[in-house]
Amino acid sequence: MQRLTKQFIDNHWVESQATRRLTVTDPYRQAPIAELTAGDAADVDAAVTAARRAQPAWQALGGERRADFLAAFAEALVARREALMRLSASNNGKALAETAIDLDDAIACYRYYAGQARALEARQGRFVEHGMAGVEALTYEDPAGVVGLITPWNFPLVTSAWKIAPALAAGCTVVFKPSEVTPLPEQAVAEIALEIGLPPGVLNLVHGDGEGIGAPLTAHPGVDKLSFTGSNAVGEKVMRAAAEGARGVSLELGGKSPILVLDDADVEAAADWVMAGIYFNSGQICSATSRLIVHDSLADALYAALATRIDAIRLGDPLDAATDMGPMTSARQRQAVERYLAIAAEEGLSAVRDARHRDLPRQGEFVAPTLYRDVPTDSRLWREEIFGPVLCARSVASEAEAIALANDSAFGLAATVISGDAERARRVGRALRAGSIWFNSEQLVMPEVSWGGFGISGIGRELGPWGLSAYLEVKHLIGPAG
Ligand code: NAD
Repeated sequence: MQRLTKQFIDNHWVESQATRRLTVTDPYRQAPIAELTAGDAADVDAAVTAARRAQPAWQALGGERRADFLAAFAEALVARREALMRLSASNNGKALAETAIDLDDAIACYRYYAGQARALEARQGRFVEHGMAGVEALTYEDPAGVVGLITPWNFPLVTSAWKIAPALAAGCTVVFKPSEVTPLPEQAVAEIALEIGLPPGVLNLVHGDGEGIGAPLTAHPGVDKLSFTGSNAVGEKVMRAAAEGARGVSLELGGKSPILVLDDADVEAAADWVMAGIYFNSGQICSATSRLIVHDSLADALYAALATRIDAIRLGDPLDAATDMGPMTSARQRQAVERYLAIAAEEGLSAVRDARHRDLPRQGEFVAPTLYRDVPTDSRLWREEIFGPVLCARSVASEAEAIALANDSAFGLAATVISGDAERARRVGRALRAGSIWFNSEQLVMPEVSWGGFGISGIGRELGPWGLSAYLEVKHLIGPAG
């Protein structure tokens, strides 16, 4: 069993003075795999102090040099790819094939922001076109300063890459708090920082839970900007904390995303996309398309095609290449999903597939993949994020009804449109309120394309140039021309 009792501060592994300990568990074997320090405010303070000390020199280094570090970071991840896939599978419970996608996503992200750091350097001091004679205005983009980055457990190394890479590219220094549920793969971030010779204090990693590390980090006056990915409940707390001192905040929160299957769709292809949108990562995806909205004329055929596919999902050991779906990441998350399944039973929802339809593996925090049809729009299962392999479906009589139903949600993270006519799919996609809208595809994510939501799904965007802007302050020098 590993002991993660040290914090990574100023390029040193420092023993935390905090005495509280947390247990990290393998959700398939249901056995402890590490003991983790529940760090405290003193750890946060030391990390913020180191980050503040390091920030001016990191900024002064310039985008070109920072880009070299980011490129080296990506290569160090490549070298660890297989080992981190296995670590992620055992700590998070996701199937190996899914961990490969995560690693490749993280690697692409660090590479992309190496390019963005260079582009940032190249555009500093550019002229603004304006109409005032004899006056010049020059644009500069400076780093926001010291940033506090907080991530959840569902995509270790990915949600952190989406924050760390652009923050470092911008010239910010970082205090990073990974989820206490999946600290093992995230530990690699600190090891890589040391290996590639990142200057001391540029990247600090503090382990602990929300109470011990998260709250003190969001409250620390030495943090200029906060970027948080996680639940809505905690996101609102982070925003309240950021109000103290009028500090900036980016939030990537929950979702209840729709998938629309239009009347001209091919049922078999549509069924494949529906499956990819909800059962990947055991449904623990913020952008899961968990509300299926299908045209009346296709509903029965689509449910039948889905039932066949659901029955074929192989649940099992995440480390076994034959496994399609691993367990939920924690007993807590399994219980949270089971509460929704109990509500479904109380509400008398009509199940195409529910927990009665299959035997679960003898070990592991498994939940059966489920599909409910004709779910009332006031059902809690239709409206709330479940974060599990639970698909809720309704059929509609028209395209207009499908769009209205899709947009009838407080969330707005993602959506999918399936149609036999790509032009029609694009048109319907334009009518939806969400940050990522896939047509005749699912869950495609690339570092060049933004990530983030409308409504209560969050504030701001990650990835692409927008993800860099989140860590920059724009300033102008204005005076007589020449
Ligand atoms: P969570 O909100 O419970 O925890 C997220 C992080 O916040 C963890 O590191 C946790 O320790 C920390 N935290 C807890 N209390 C805190 C506090 N008071 N102050 C500061 N930090 C605190 O979320 P989770 O259960 O880890 O993750 C699941 C949620 O994350 C889902 O709602 C999901 O939709 C969301 N998510 C969103 C995206 C996105 O891009 N929009 C991506 C992944 C996950």
